[in-house]
Amino acid sequence: MVKYIYKEFKTTLNKLKYPDSWFWSRYTLNTYSGCEHACIYCDARSQRYYLEDFENEVIIKTNFDKKLDQRFKRARTLLPDVIAPGGVNDAYQPIEKKIEHTRKVFQVIAKHKFPINIATKSKLVTRDLDILKKIAADTWCTIGFSISTTNEELAKFLEPHSSSPFERLEALKIIKKKAPNIQVGTYFIPIIPFLEDDDENLEAVIKKSKDAGADFILFSPGLTMRDSQAQYFINKLKRSKYDYVVKPLLNLYKGQMHPPTDYNSSIHAKVWNLSEKYDVKVRVKRWIPSDYRKWNYKISELLLNTEYIEMLKGYANKTMMWAGLHLNNLEESILDVYERGELSKLRNFTKNIIEFVTPHLEKGKALKHKTGLDKFL
Ligand code: SF4
Repeated sequence: MVKYIYKEFKTTLNKLKYPDSWFWSRYTLNTYSGCEHACIYCDARSQRYYLEDFENEVIIKTNFDKKLDQRFKRARTLLPDVIAPGGVNDAYQPIEKKIEHTRKVFQVIAKHKFPINIATKSKLVTRDLDILKKIAADTWCTIGFSISTTNEELAKFLEPHSSSPFERLEALKIIKKKAPNIQVGTYFIPIIPFLEDDDENLEAVIKKSKDAGADFILFSPGLTMRDSQAQYFINKLKRSKYDYVVKPLLNLYKGQMHPPTDYNSSIHAKVWNLSEKYDVKVRVKRWIPSDYRKWNYKISELLLNTEYIEMLKGYANKTMMWAGLHLNNLEESILDVYERGELSKLRNFTKNIIEFVTPHLEKGKALKHKTGLDKFL
């Protein structure tokens, strides 16, 4: 039995120092604390979250919609940017069906025209398509279903109270059909070693997502194994029909939080080849603002996506990654910096990076001068 606690919190919106280069979120918010989906691998069980009984005690943050509305109204300098609801909780966990708490918060987000990126394991998100379509029409809306296996029995064991993979794929189809202006896809995360990393499952998740209409599939090999979360997961496995994976899993991790690099590289290569085979994008298309940040975000997206693809191929380029991240915090347009010949003053903009971005900035400059105002391009 889940216990529901109503409690008022002071904060609503958290701003990240840099946007997340996978989900493109700049703000996070949590309408709930705790998650009754109770996935047995959930990182919320690790000590760093200080959540005692996160699956049996769910806190409903009262007055959240009103407080968020006030936050938007009072903060004159709050620039619109992507909001990601649900850190270590699912905004569409079962109680949401009854109390429509997240729905009210999303109405406020729609009212203030902020873009949003939702990750969920619930089909319930389709209930709010009226609001989400409006957000997509006004700014940008992305929905990703977390799907890491198409084996219903395994999914029931790993994620006991969420919608089944079949239901999530059906929900993806519905969104694609009823709300074509929403970017929708699959978050193939985590890919649990020895349970979900076999060739058959990798191909099934990608093929079925593509068949359902996924615009993207984001994937990440391995599962983070951290203190009490790792302990809980291993104990659950030991008491199940999947106990045979415990030994190979422990051998693979060797007490570390992540699998070794060569394991990750082999999964990266396999999923990358499958994404090519099924012609599916492995990145989410970014929201681009129409103010002075427009070209900063475009070039940042280019740098971060290029760095990611190079990483998949085995070439780490941290300078490019940091150049892309810092650019999001530039308080003027990179086009102005370029026209002054001062790109080398930007953080991590080395000679190679300047050479790489110059053709794109030339295009931006030409468009700007052609129209005088490039906000519509
Ligand atoms: S849905 Fe996400 S937050 Fe909720 S239990 Fe599962 S992994 Fe954790």
